[in-house]
Amino acid sequence: MYVLDASAFIHEYHTTEQMATVPMVREELEDESAYRYDAMEGAGMHIHIPSDETVETVQRAAKELGDHDELSETDVRLLAAAFELDGTLVTDDYAMQNVADRLDVRIDMIARDGITEQREWLFQCQGCGREFEENKDRCPICGSSLSRKNPSNA
Ligand SMILES: [Zn+2]
Repeated sequence: MYVLDASAFIHEYHTTEQMATVPMVREELEDESAYRYDAMEGAGMHIHIPSDETVETVQRAAKELGDHDELSETDVRLLAAAFELDGTLVTDDYAMQNVADRLDVRIDMIARDGITEQREWLFQCQGCGREFEENKDRCPICGSSLSRKNPSNA
């Protein structure tokens, strides 16, 4: 079960797994992304309303982590839904990821074509090892060629 936040609808997140969300997400969507929500609901997306008890558990975890002010009411309910459904939460929101980690809720990032790659990839000089955010033909310091490097593997 994948639990989708508003940005998952906006960025047309796709999965072949069963999907779920909470009713408050619908209120954050407009135009095409709102139609997408309605179409997915019509196609069997599970609309989940978490219990007050689970919502309190999430709020407590967020307070302990200092992330409580970063989370909207919708965010808290999405986390609670993912927790209750033993699902994977789909979000790019850092505070939500942090609280999900505390609750042992799995996370899937929304792949935004191009944007994610530009932000996450670095280019490293094969000669001197300096890192650059943009690709260049040659290292401006030592003239060696650059190779692409994923900082999460560094
Ligand atoms: Zn260099």
